[in-house]
Amino acid sequence: MFVMNMPDNISKLSDGFLRSDFAKDTLTGLLNREAFNIKASERINSGEKGLAIVWINISNFKKYNNRFGFNSGNILLCELSEILTEVFKSKNGDIVSRFSGDNFVVITTWDDLDENITFTEKYLYSLHPGITLRLRAGVYFPSANENILEACDKAKMACDSIRTNYSLNACMYREEMGKEMEMEHYILDVLDDALNSGNIKVLYQPIVRILNNNICEVEALVRWKNDVLGFISPGDFIPTLEKYSEIHKIDTYTVKQVCEDLKNLAEKNLPLLPVSINLSRLDFELCDIFSVIENTLSEYNIPRNMLKIEITESVHGEDMSVLNLGIEKFRAYGYEVWMDDFGSGYSSLNMLKDTNFDTIKFDMKFLSGFDENSDKARYILSSNLSMAKQMGMQSLCEGVETPEQLEYLRTIGFEKAQGYFFGRPMTLDNIFELELPIENIQDSPYYEKLGKFEILDDEILDHAGTIVADMRAAAIFEITNDQIKLLTKNKTYSDWLKNLTEDSKRELINYFLKRMKRMKLNHDPDSSSSSSSGNRFYIFSNGNLFQTRIAHAAENSRTGSEAWVLYQKALTYFPLNHDANDRARIYEAYMKIFAMKSGDNFLRLD
Ligand code: C2E
Ligand code: CA
Ligand code: CA
Repeated sequence: MFVMNMPDNISKLSDGFLRSDFAKDTLTGLLNREAFNIKASERINSGEKGLAIVWINISNFKKYNNRFGFNSGNILLCELSEILTEVFKSKNGDIVSRFSGDNFVVITTWDDLDENITFTEKYLYSLHPGITLRLRAGVYFPSANENILEACDKAKMACDSIRTNYSLNACMYREEMGKEMEMEHYILDVLDDALNSGNIKVLYQPIVRILNNNICEVEALVRWKNDVLGFISPGDFIPTLEKYSEIHKIDTYTVKQVCEDLKNLAEKNLPLLPVSINLSRLDFELCDIFSVIENTLSEYNIPRNMLKIEITESVHGEDMSVLNLGIEKFRAYGYEVWMDDFGSGYSSLNMLKDTNFDTIKFDMKFLSGFDENSDKARYILSSNLSMAKQMGMQSLCEGVETPEQLEYLRTIGFEKAQGYFFGRPMTLDNIFELELPIENIQDSPYYEKLGKFEILDDEILDHAGTIVADMRAAAIFEITNDQIKLLTKNKTYSDWLKNLTEDSKRELINYFLKRMKRMKLNHDPDSSSSSSSGNRFYIFSNGNLFQTRIAHAAENSRTGSEAWVLYQKALTYFPLNHDANDRARIYEAYMKIFAMKSGDNFLRLD
């Protein structure tokens, strides 16, 4: 170890060493770690002001090596060493060195440091167009006489701290980093023990189908109980495990634990309940996560549709090919893959465009501020939901905490909801003690179909935000043994129904039943297509005329229930509340104007 204030005789010894070949890095010809330490110490001890130690690392060097071969990797290291030498040579006393692998360390001064780092990056990237390279730099300003080893450690800490923060390429050392680093090292040290000792547990949070208020899935979330630190939240240890490429250990463990829990359910004869698990993007690189899951499922004899895979949006600029291939493989084998935390980062839309998912899971931030600043939050939620439905995807909103939030999700047609309103993460046994029933897994395909229908009101607003016209009322009915049940409706349809008398409602239901029966009997080939006229009819109610279409939506093979979807638009907008005589006159007028006959395609309500 070379410490500050080296006695003269060591200094003389080091002179010889520095001139020898042992001082050079054989690959790049730069100074090696030992030689750098001697020379940088001298410079720090000289009392020179404004010094900086810069630790530079190529973020994805391992991947580069794997992809292009060891030789290309070596060439890349030599290129970087030449660029660094070129950039820093103009300054007197600057030293560039390679410590190991892809770790380069420079001692320089504060001035132009930013520009020099940026220039180095750009130069290196320009030599490899089309390849995602990422250079990271950590900077530390040593004080006079500071130990060179500690100074380098601090520069490295700064560099490591942005390993998974892709928006930063350079970072300065801060005091807290020492503590964070200690915590990270502790987590890494005790991880294996924790996995073996059962201190890492999996809890489950209910996911509720809004249409039937049933629990249709649960999400598996890990918990770590530690003897020293108490409870460590996944928000703290997951990023650390990702940073140090250990995350696949937890995820492999979770898959096994989930299968174990599902097996126990089956043994207790409890209803089947699919589980969604969180995978890290890194799982696809660090291990063969597909085989891990396949093997574990078959070991426990659990079918693929019992496990849903949540993947959070990727970071902008990252190489997506490995992840996309991995996702496609899971889907090709019949697994559902869900996009987690949609909307939480800046690449959500791009990822949605380039990657195929079965479900979009809306980030809980969509609901934060919902109650105060509701208008904007509502528009963002509803229009993104529309987008999801147009892409044929299932929808789930997380972070539901209040009945108002749930009610809004219901009226705009969200398929599923998750959040503290229904329950916090809990043991699987506790899930079965909740008041909400578990969905019969045989019914799921039926409800999934219904969840994809758009029921959003198309409101036309003036600039002040007042509703000028409701464009579309929508509802989904379910018919079981000639009994009709309204499964869901949007606000426009709710409002319309409110203005009907009880008699009118009964008349409406009878008319619907008759019509649906006839459409089924005729085997109307177009009955599910909205372009056919067979499914279109007119309703006169409250002095206004409405055009209504119904279409067969889905059939539940277990219960025999059928679902029909209804869309209705107003053709006239007369104010309500005129008297019976007025209504009769208006009715006669419509019949003339629209040249209609009361009959099959026309229902006159009061
Ligand atoms: P996530 O996947 O977005 O999980 C949802 C997080 O939000 C959970 O935190 C959950 O407890 C919390 N949450 C659920 N409902 C509500 C609500 O209504 N309000 C609020 N404020 N929070 C709610 P948790 O369990 O601390 O997990 C944090 C993150 O850790 C997860 O976010 C996920 O990204 C990650 N994670 C958890 N388990 C695993 C795992 O096994 N593997 C991997 N790779 N990541 C995991
Ligand atoms: Ca999740
Ligand atoms: Ca999430």
